[in-house]
Amino acid sequence: MNSFSAATFAERGAPRQNPRIARLASDWSAADGLYCKSYCPLHPKVHEVVFALIDELCDVFEADTFHSGMDEVFYIGNDKCPRCGGKDKASLFAGEVRTIHDHLASTHRQLWIWGDRLLDGHVTGLGEWEASYNETAPAIDQIPKDVLICDWHYDQPVPTAAYFATKGFHVVSCPWKNPASAVKQVEDLLRFKTESPPDMAGRFDGVVQTIWSDMGSFLSREKTNPDRDGGTNQWNTFVRSFDAINQAGKAAKAEMPAVK
Ligand SMILES: [Zn+2]
Repeated sequence: MNSFSAATFAERGAPRQNPRIARLASDWSAADGLYCKSYCPLHPKVHEVVFALIDELCDVFEADTFHSGMDEVFYIGNDKCPRCGGKDKASLFAGEVRTIHDHLASTHRQLWIWGDRLLDGHVTGLGEWEASYNETAPAIDQIPKDVLICDWHYDQPVPTAAYFATKGFHVVSCPWKNPASAVKQVEDLLRFKTESPPDMAGRFDGVVQTIWSDMGSFLSREKTNPDRDGGTNQWNTFVRSFDAINQAGKAAKAEMPAVK
């Protein structure tokens, strides 16, 4: 469930139509072309709503981990907000991560978030979706280390998984629909594991394929026609990257001494 950002993503979905959520959204302008409002993390009523949604989802799916989104937070610390105005944006972001983390921890559940707000766009040159240009990146040193980071890069295999691991986080690399980039992400992750000391090697947890369409498009249109869009599609990416994982697994097994 997307929380914090994208609280009113597009026009559909129960949380998005919930007038209580809409009232909690921060000041926002549609004129800048960004689709997502954020809720005010310091609104005294916001977590009553957010926790109820999280708890219901976790209970229904019997989940022991929860992906809270928290990507693409563009509106944070708005000067017009009587609670957030003038506050440090990294601290606001980190505070919200910690609040959701602690709530989940109280029922022995782990928090997963996207990594983009923890990457500095000014320094890396990554785009405004893929990294932060609104000064949230220092939050990386202010959030609990047992938050798992989903390090998404869709166009090229930017090697930031190593950055998250050196900061003490477990991390998964997340491709989308670029098969060549996804295979490189698998190879990079394996290389990082092999070439790191054990403490750090143990933090590269794998690859999570993202799908940004309805399931029908993924399974019916792309699966039956993997060459669709010149092969640049979600299904082809999924197959090629997981083939790379399986091949690496077989190679590792072949290198292991035979058990007699
Ligand atoms: Zn606020």
